[in-house]
Amino acid sequence: MTLQASYEKIKATIAAAAAKGRRNPANVTLVAVTKNASPEQIKHLVEMGHLDLAESRVQQLQQRAAQLDEWLSRQQNRAGNKLPPPGYQTEGGVRWHMIGHLQRNKVKPVIPIVRMIHSVDSLRLAEEIQDEAERKPASAPRQRPMQVMLEVNVAGESTKFGVAVGAALHLAEQMDTMDDVHVVGLMAMAPHTENPEDARPVFVRLRELFEEIKFRKIGGDRFVHLSMGMSNDYAIAVEEGATMVRIGTALFGPG
Ligand SMILES: *Cc1c(COP(=O)(O)O)cnc(C)c1O
Repeated sequence: MTLQASYEKIKATIAAAAAKGRRNPANVTLVAVTKNASPEQIKHLVEMGHLDLAESRVQQLQQRAAQLDEWLSRQQNRAGNKLPPPGYQTEGGVRWHMIGHLQRNKVKPVIPIVRMIHSVDSLRLAEEIQDEAERKPASAPRQRPMQVMLEVNVAGESTKFGVAVGAALHLAEQMDTMDDVHVVGLMAMAPHTENPEDARPVFVRLRELFEEIKFRKIGGDRFVHLSMGMSNDYAIAVEEGATMVRIGTALFGPG
């Protein structure tokens, strides 16, 4: 299947799942996970008008973001160019998301590149983001306050990152006191299983936790996102309330 065909198929699946869950598909953002994509595929996707891109590792994020940005800069002055403008924080430009485990000593290079970090799972990491986001003078334009999501290890898997369900509310509350960190939602990964239906209880649990945090007014009006669902299970995640699905393989192939 061509990239365009995969893209359209995923969009159609999201629309159908949203309808099934009585939701507006406009409230679901497809975040394209580029970790196994070729540079050509990434460019092609951006040519198709797609702006939300994600990486799970810092080094790859830096490389891919820089490569794409250089290309966008080169295209900028070409006649008839309809591509988004270069620059990581430019209005109308591509939006990079950090979705993988982030070590505190890697926060610094990530902050100027991304618009959102989905994978915050400790107070110390949030504090590091706060320190880096407010650093002056800003050596590079940055999203400030930085939008972050709290990663929750819903299934309690020892191999996965994320805060325990029972600790999430308190951590969200603590993060909510930070001026330059805006908690905008929750993120989770379901265990990989043969049957995507097995993921449903994980998504339901994350949504319940989301509603509990929202009920306590933590994060205020900004607390709106549920980042859940990957290639295997995104349709179920959308039925259960996902506002962002993170899709790699179904879009780009196994790499
Ligand atoms: C790789 C990755 C994805 C995408 O996984 P696919 O199964 O390829 O769609 C989503 N979220 C995170 C955190 C990832 O690391």
